[in-house]
Amino acid sequence: MISRNARRKAAETVKERAKKRLSGALVKCAVLGCQHATQKAAGNGLSKTHCKAHVEFHRRHGSYWRRSYLAREIAPFRRAARQWLREHEGSPEVLDAIDQLDGLLFASGRPISAFNLNGRSSVDKAQTALARLREAGKTGEDLLEIALTISATVSELGPRGNDEFLNVQVAKLAHRLASGTILKNHEGVPYSEIYKGAKGSMFVRYPRAAGGYMRLLGQAILKRASGALERETIQAIRAGALSTASGVGNH
Ligand SMILES: [Zn+2]
Repeated sequence: MISRNARRKAAETVKERAKKRLSGALVKCAVLGCQHATQKAAGNGLSKTHCKAHVEFHRRHGSYWRRSYLAREIAPFRRAARQWLREHEGSPEVLDAIDQLDGLLFASGRPISAFNLNGRSSVDKAQTALARLREAGKTGEDLLEIALTISATVSELGPRGNDEFLNVQVAKLAHRLASGTILKNHEGVPYSEIYKGAKGSMFVRYPRAAGGYMRLLGQAILKRASGALERETIQAIRAGALSTASGVGNH
């Protein structure tokens, strides 16, 4: 007969072994082929699963391994999305999505200067990104075009089923539409033109396109566009993009 004490002891060693196995598995970064130690193991950050470089990659791209789309990868899908929008501009789903996206832009308040964004919350940064889009004259239709473009790009190029990547890619494209903060004098002349020799970054600043606010920004846009992002629509845009892309590439 095994004593209670011995049983408890056996249970403990099983637990300890599991713990050891677990900590052993987490010493290396979880990205396939990456030989770096996790942040926790290397003592250079909090992640127990990924190395410093891959944590930073994820912050920027929304995926640990798939980099953001290049402009030329997106271009055919954007053309097809534009074409689709022209053909469906009067449809109730499109009108409703544009209305909701316009509402999002107009509810965003005044932008915080990019010079003062450090340390602000992700919500503040996302609001500011929307406010800058509005000030740059962008509309709900521009945002819907982005949502359609990225949804179709993801359906063809992947990775599918990664909402975070989708959100970040939508935010990145939106981010590119708006300018940063350009400091001007009382006559509206940019200081960067007055002091031509000075370091440009003293007078012009673009918020970094990485981190939590990019997820929020993409999520907000996709949520309001969702009524116009039906499966058939995305498939039609994808097919349109592939037909023009192959037309250019193969003939
Ligand atoms: Zn790594």
